[in-house]
Amino acid sequence: MDIDLKNCKKCGRLFSPEQDTKICQKCSDVKDRDYELVEEAITLYHKITPSEIAAHTHLPQERVNEILKTSKVLAQDVDSESVCTQCKKRPATADSDICLACQMAMFKSLNDISATLRATSSATKKPQSVSLRDTMTEKRSRSGFKKFNPVTQSIKGRN
Ligand SMILES: [Zn+2]
Ligand SMILES: [Zn+2]
Repeated sequence: MDIDLKNCKKCGRLFSPEQDTKICQKCSDVKDRDYELVEEAITLYHKITPSEIAAHTHLPQERVNEILKTSKVLAQDVDSESVCTQCKKRPATADSDICLACQMAMFKSLNDISATLRATSSATKKPQSVSLRDTMTEKRSRSGFKKFNPVTQSIKGRN
């Protein structure tokens, strides 16, 4: 029997994947440990920047950024080193260029725009022409029903 071996995407080592994973157990253990380290640093020091996390965990800065990118929950508790590009006052969140308050404001205005669009499109509809077309379709289908109704025909044929 052939064992379906895979090459680990990270270290290249051959491994037999029990689950549908691209990296070997060794590498995924390391990944989890890095994640836990970052999580721990955030819990201990709260609201620290990615470079401070890197200093505390002894992980490379890119690794910290990578972990923060994959975890929105962790990123929420991390202060970005950059200032919000919108208000230029509050610190931007770790996963974007703008602060949380500006993100919320943008989200709200997007909602407002879509609400306005919805209102405009329903106002420009012409209900009269639609109802006329509906009546015509109904008439046509009703006459067609009469003509091709097999039940009516079979009853006629029997008599
Ligand atoms: Zn590996
Ligand atoms: Zn802002």
